[in-house]
Amino acid sequence: MKKITVLIPAYNEAVNLPALHTRLCALASGELDNVSAQTGTDNSAERPRMTDYEWEFLFVNDGSSDNTLAVLNTLRRTDPRVTVVDLARNFGKENALLAGFDIASGDAVVVMDADLQHPPETVPEMVKYWELGYVDVYGRRRSRGRESWLRHNLTSVFYRTLQALTSIEMMPGVGDFRLLDRRAVNALTSMRETQRYTKGMFSWIGGSKYGIDFDVADRAGGHSSFGPRQLVALALQGLTGFTTAPLRFASISGITISIGAFVYLVYALVKYACYGDPVRGFATLLCVMLLLGGLQLLCLGIIGEYIGRIFIETKGRPPYIIDTVNGRPLTSAP
Ligand code: UDP
Ligand code: MG
Repeated sequence: MKKITVLIPAYNEAVNLPALHTRLCALASGELDNVSAQTGTDNSAERPRMTDYEWEFLFVNDGSSDNTLAVLNTLRRTDPRVTVVDLARNFGKENALLAGFDIASGDAVVVMDADLQHPPETVPEMVKYWELGYVDVYGRRRSRGRESWLRHNLTSVFYRTLQALTSIEMMPGVGDFRLLDRRAVNALTSMRETQRYTKGMFSWIGGSKYGIDFDVADRAGGHSSFGPRQLVALALQGLTGFTTAPLRFASISGITISIGAFVYLVYALVKYACYGDPVRGFATLLCVMLLLGGLQLLCLGIIGEYIGRIFIETKGRPPYIIDTVNGRPLTSAP
């Protein structure tokens, strides 16, 4: 019997977990097998039965400050399919996901948010395509749920910029909600960088992929942990992790400005030699100096971003520390 692990990183999700667990139980017991409304497809006849699989519900408590851990332990006591990994502190969603991939024992791993934004009703359809041989069956957002106008637009500008700068395909509307075959999971766990941008890694590892549309639900309870600051940090992670184009920007703008300045120098000298015209314009000079000063600082900043990340990676620290698995301290490294 094949085993499917549902991997759920949870940070302050105590209010959502019981409802999520109920939906997962419905999924595993086959109640959602023929619910096709969420995926928009209606070829349910070919879908495999979810009861034909063994299930593991793997929750990674990412250093929550509410009683997420207590709720998870209660679920674990009532349901043997539940595994609870407790991280020593908040390491961020990307690293919590890696911890989950390391521990997951399934032949396939379904990654899902804890806030019920990712409908478990889509999973049977994902399993179907996994059985057809795809190693990465990803969810594609048909609609994005409740989201501010600013966040929506800034996100799409960011993805377009990132796509323009990197050769790795960054699929629009595709996030972490997906089913990964064991081969893809092994590829992801072999990438041990601390500065993770998992969305880019899914593309980087390659493999046969298939997209399934789904509607993002609104967050069931609690608050999103990704405010503007976290989103900017994640965007920088994606940029610096998957492209060195910003560094090239520094050299290209340096060369362009130098050539421009040289041409202007020749022009000014010739003008002076022919017409004896002294060069005027204090204001212009000031503007050019400030512009160049700004550009130099920007380029230094870009280089600094990369150096900072090199510094963090060279320390070779583990991406996360596990406190306990199912209430017991972890004696050997995963
Ligand atoms: N999450 C996490 N660690 C963090 C922040 C978030 O494990 O430091 C989890 C969170 O519990 C949820 C998922 O990552 O399951 C997505 O988070 P959230 O809903 O806050 O993000 P959004 O959906 O707003 O992008
Ligand atoms: Mg969410």
